Amino acid sequence: MSALKLPDFQLQAGTMAFLEKHPKSLFINNEWVAAQSGKSFETRNPATGDVLAEVALASEADVDAAVSAARAAFNGAWGQTLAGDRAALLFKLADLIDEHADVLAELETLDNGKPIRVARRGDLPYVTKHLRYQAGWADKIEGSTVPVTFPNQFVYTRREPMGVVGAIIPWNFPLLMAIWKLGPALTAGNTLILKPAEQTPLTALYLADLVKIAGFPAGVVNVLPGPGQPTGAAMAKHPDINKIAFTGSTEVGRKIMEAAANSNLKRVSLELGGKSPNVIFADADVSSAIRGAQWAVFSTAGQECVAGTRLFVERAAYDQVVEGLKTQVEKMVVNHGFAEKVHVGPVITEQQMTRVVGYIEDGKKAGAEVITGGNRVENLGGGYFVQPTVFAYQDDGISIVTDEIFGPVAAVTAFDDWDELITRANDTMYGLAAGVWTRDIGKAHRYAHAVQAGTVWINGYGMIDPAAPFGGYKQSGFGREMGKEAIDLYTQVKTVWVNTQ
Ligand code: ADP
Repeated sequence: MSALKLPDFQLQAGTMAFLEKHPKSLFINNEWVAAQSGKSFETRNPATGDVLAEVALASEADVDAAVSAARAAFNGAWGQTLAGDRAALLFKLADLIDEHADVLAELETLDNGKPIRVARRGDLPYVTKHLRYQAGWADKIEGSTVPVTFPNQFVYTRREPMGVVGAIIPWNFPLLMAIWKLGPALTAGNTLILKPAEQTPLTALYLADLVKIAGFPAGVVNVLPGPGQPTGAAMAKHPDINKIAFTGSTEVGRKIMEAAANSNLKRVSLELGGKSPNVIFADADVSSAIRGAQWAVFSTAGQECVAGTRLFVERAAYDQVVEGLKTQVEKMVVNHGFAEKVHVGPVITEQQMTRVVGYIEDGKKAGAEVITGGNRVENLGGGYFVQPTVFAYQDDGISIVTDEIFGPVAAVTAFDDWDELITRANDTMYGLAAGVWTRDIGKAHRYAHAVQAGTVWINGYGMIDPAAPFGGYKQSGFGREMGKEAIDLYTQVKTVWVNTQ
């Protein structure tokens, strides 16, 4: 396996051992079990195209088994676990993740392609910060007393767990997405079935071992690798899953809602795609704004739901921004994630690379001007690399401007006045995030209020914190993850009436 012989990087012994010896089967009821169908799938290193591992594929029967285990845990040991004890287990899990962070980061880079520096300094520390933040809520989930109009009635509310939660996650931040769901779901007292993305199952499997070591009762966390069909779809329609927490494409989000509607009306929360507007006014600190705009698109090779892919520049600053962006982007090094110098890693799969290059070709045909990039990178072995690409455009209707590409492609345009800007910025089915760069504080807030997005960054882009609620407007989804709102997302309110007469 050439993935294990990266020329300029020595993998940790723990990473090698995991790749070579771990069963990579299904984790149900604290045991590693084979898929009932005997089926498996391959996960590949996007930097080389090589197969990293063969992983068991969960089908409907396996989903049934995992749901039974999760239900039994919810009705049994986990349901009896006191809030403070739940928190203690989650803190223990966070400590274990910290202990194993180097191996987890390497597995993330192997499976996802992101630069190892980013996995180590970005994903992993954030994973445990998030877990600890959420765990801290466990013994602070309060109800309220309600002053009703009837005499002699004492009314109070309780926030109760939903039951068995299914988490279906994407491949761009594999472990982080797993923990975004696991943290609040378990904190609130639910049990969990986690389906990692089929492109990146490795860190979720490693996490399952840590869950067991931490001492969670059997059935509290179950991990079912597999693709959307059959694994994800079987979860979405399962009659005994109470909630699906999903992060992924708007198209699949729609299917999950449909499956929920046609089965048991399970609760659904959706964190979906985006096509976020990032605005630079002429009065901004333009050089900071250019760097901000650059990373808003090209971190994680553009494979972020919040990517600031539509860049609006006030006409007076337009030439300066386009020139500056071109210079900056041309300094970015495209390489595999373990290389000493790398800014942009591969995209996740060959299929995704073909899709991204297809969009680039569509952009060219539609008359957008290539400022820089515009092709795949051919000379990096068998990996799936695309040049960081910047287009200049006028027509808001072309596909590079309307569609979420999920690759390193930015589209920049000039605007002349406020009304035009707000109309064009909001002219999208998405509403996940937005950015604005200006020294005028009033204008910054006016924009933040006018733009239809769940998160707005002023003179910055892309910051996310466990304490700050995060989620979409419009077809970018609903439900807020992180912050205390994440606990609301994984609980339901019960109202209790007491006759005091
Ligand atoms: P992306 O475009 O980021 O790959 P997807 O929405 O295709 O996002 O996938 C996100 C997650 O949804 C993955 O875990 C994938 O396996 C899962 N998935 C895909 N199709 C379905 C489906 N029909 N039902 C449930 N889950 C699905």
